[in-house]
Amino acid sequence: MGQSFGAICNQCGTKFMVDAGGGSAFHVLHCETCGQAKSISFEELGDLHAAYLKGLGGPYAHSTRKSDKFISKNFAGEPISEEEYDQKVEEHTGLCGCGGHFRFSASARCPKCRNNDWTEDPYSKHVRYE
Ligand SMILES: [Zn+2]
Ligand SMILES: [Zn+2]
Repeated sequence: MGQSFGAICNQCGTKFMVDAGGGSAFHVLHCETCGQAKSISFEELGDLHAAYLKGLGGPYAHSTRKSDKFISKNFAGEPISEEEYDQKVEEHTGLCGCGGHFRFSASARCPKCRNNDWTEDPYSKHVRYE
C-alpha cells in the first residue's frame, strides 16, 4: 500500500525522502503549499475510519481484513463515502505550520526550493509496506 523512496529535485538537485500513500494503519497527507508530509493513524481517526470501512463494504487492506470486518460489523453509526471520508480526514489533519492545507492529492515537494518537480532517485532504497 504505502511506499517511501529517495527523490532528487530537478530544480536544485537536493536529495530527500518521499513518503507516499500511507500504510494499513495510517494515511500520509502532504501540505499543498510546502509539501510537508503528515501521517494520521486510523486509531486517531476512530469513528471516522470505522464509518469509512462500513461504507467500503469490504476490508481496507489484506493485513487488516479481520479487524476491518469486526469494526464495520460493530460500528453503529452511518457509513460514509470515500469522498466524504477524505474530506473529513483533511479537516481533521488541520493546517500545516506554513499555513497550507494537508491534502491526499498534494504531492511531496523539495524541502529546499519547494518545487514538486522531482524524480525518484534510482540508487535509493525503495521501501514498500502495507
Ligand atoms: Zn529543490
Ligand atoms: Zn506546509
